[in-house]
Amino acid sequence: MKKISKLLIGTNNKGKYKEIKDLLPKYIKTYSTSEFKLKSPKEDGLTFKENSIIKSKYFSKKTKKICLADDSGLEIDILDKSPGIYSARWAGKKGNFKKAISKVYRELSKKDKNWKYKKVKARFICALSICFLNKVIASVSGKVEGYISTTPKGKNGFGYDPIFIPKNKRKTFGEIGSIQKYKIDHRFDAFKKIKKFL
Ligand code: IMP
Repeated sequence: MKKISKLLIGTNNKGKYKEIKDLLPKYIKTYSTSEFKLKSPKEDGLTFKENSIIKSKYFSKKTKKICLADDSGLEIDILDKSPGIYSARWAGKKGNFKKAISKVYRELSKKDKNWKYKKVKARFICALSICFLNKVIASVSGKVEGYISTTPKGKNGFGYDPIFIPKNKRKTFGEIGSIQKYKIDHRFDAFKKIKKFL
């Protein structure tokens, strides 16, 4: 199979763009959606995988380039896997994650007023898809298991990082530096699986 030498990274989220760029082999020339002034498509899939394919196809068709797109989010077991595919939407149009995190804590208290005394299991999921126009070249998914912190901690990372403690660690993703986070997170896990297609 021919190696991919140029790739559009299909995300308008700066945090994700940086992380994906850092994970790709250096010989690949990358483009960002902002260079093409593209808006994001409507994510009306029912799974992370479907949404990553929707984004990847959309950006590929708009630019005629091979596109790698991801869809990711946080699943909390006692909230029936919410926010899940709605992770970005819980932060509202302005991407206010203080608001999204407050909603997580509000929902947890509604579900179980003693949640702070228990280990609340959660995981980040990342689906990655590579498409060219309407064709799916590869689609994989990765995850990192962990727990919800009783208070937000740390200023690193983005999104729900301050409230997620990965399994076997004591610090949140917000407290762990990005280099260390990249080595254990859901996007890295998915990347390991998609590498052979690059
Ligand atoms: P989407 O994949 O752009 O639809 O959005 C997924 C949402 O989940 C983002 O808005 C993030 O805030 C959140 N999310 C995904 N990956 C991470 C992560 O590594 N850390 C913190 N939040 C994340």
